[in-house]
Amino acid sequence: MADATPVDVLIVGAGPVGLSLVRALAGRRFRVVLVERSALTAQRSDPRALALSEGARQILEPLGGWPASAATAIRTIHVSQRGGFGRTLIEAAECGVAALGHVVHYGELASVLAGGIGELPGIELHENTTVTAVIHGGDAVRVTLRTPTGDRDIATRLLVHAEGAPMQDDTFRFLSYGQTAVVAEVTPASPHSGRAWERFTPEGPLALLPLGTGYAVVLTLPTAHATVVLTLDDEAFLGILQTHFGGDLKFTACGPRAAFPLALRMRRELTTPRQVWIGNAAQTLHPVSGQGFNLGLRDAAVLAEAIWRGGPDAGAPINLAGYVHRRRLDRLTSAAFTDGLVRVFSNDLAPLRLARGIGLAALDLCPPARRFVARRMIWGARAWP
Ligand SMILES: Cc1cc2nc3c(=O)[nH]c(=O)nc-3n(C[C@H](O)[C@H](O)[C@H](O)COP(=O)(O)OP(=O)(O)OC[C@H]3O[C@@H](n4cnc5c(N)ncnc54)[C@H](O)[C@@H]3O)c2cc1C
Repeated sequence: MADATPVDVLIVGAGPVGLSLVRALAGRRFRVVLVERSALTAQRSDPRALALSEGARQILEPLGGWPASAATAIRTIHVSQRGGFGRTLIEAAECGVAALGHVVHYGELASVLAGGIGELPGIELHENTTVTAVIHGGDAVRVTLRTPTGDRDIATRLLVHAEGAPMQDDTFRFLSYGQTAVVAEVTPASPHSGRAWERFTPEGPLALLPLGTGYAVVLTLPTAHATVVLTLDDEAFLGILQTHFGGDLKFTACGPRAAFPLALRMRRELTTPRQVWIGNAAQTLHPVSGQGFNLGLRDAAVLAEAIWRGGPDAGAPINLAGYVHRRRLDRLTSAAFTDGLVRVFSNDLAPLRLARGIGLAALDLCPPARRFVARRMIWGARAWP
């Protein structure tokens, strides 16, 4: 079956970034098709917890995509290195915000973003559907969809790739960290009081994010070690966690574990004629400091604005050129920041340990520098003067 009139935008991937873009375009005179390879409900079981910056909340709330009742506020962030001196404490109050960010389950976020999406004005949703062919043809792209009821050809003015981390190919700069993130939820012996912890260890960073009354853990380990850790029972896992974290907190119970292999993937070109890549499909970062979704959400927000402000042709070259220009600094500095943190902190060299300690202590003693780091994490490149 073929549709003769092109739709304005076809978005592939209903992850949190694709769904945010749909919400930002809904009701704004555009005909938008959203294609997801699974059922939307499948995302509810994703085991990740995401730290969303205050800037992310400010984008999601007007879109009706803010999971307020499921979000736990981060009031302070404690950054330190295991076995070395120096630490930095970033506090919401000194940055002029009520919370530095919030932690939510990926599934809760996706579920709120997906709520009623197929009924929004101008939106057509295809679940359990994949794209089998893409042909560029001047003023539109022709896309073949494999839907549960058969194949369908659709022409679109703009094809948006929001299908998450891609397979490795030469359209990407790819760098494996040789690390795997083990995620779990744990119960602390004392209340968390809204404090998030980022502790760097020679094996990789460890994050504890306040979530409900417990913590969401992201324990980064060399992949061979992670494989062993995943086989441990609860008690042995808590022992490993305690060893990595040190004595500042005690943990009394933990939930199931899941693993995510980590790599940096940077798409070399963000656009081709009438096609654009956003979110993890454009760049997949190491989860240290929780940048990935926050960055992808800013991709969606800027792309939506480029489309609204443009003329009737959503895929016009001027829209895409403006998008690429506006996203360049944010994506490159976010990738450099996370990659730099992993490289500088994931080792046990004494001179580097000393330099890191001095850096953390200096940051702690210098409120303007600390506020800048906090603003950079909250608003991305908008924090630059
Ligand atoms: C352990 C871990 C912790 C993290 N913590 C944080 C954090 O604290 N803060 C933060 O900001 N980020 C964090 N991230 C990063 C964050 O998870 C990602 O940046 C975010 O999920 C990207 O969203 P997305 O919608 O671009 O892609 P995805 O979440 O990968 O969604 C892609 C969607 O596209 C669908 N899809 C895939 N292929 C196709 C296809 N061919 N056709 C149709 N549909 C398709 C998928 O089914 C999926 O629904 C973390 C990542 C990891 C691994």
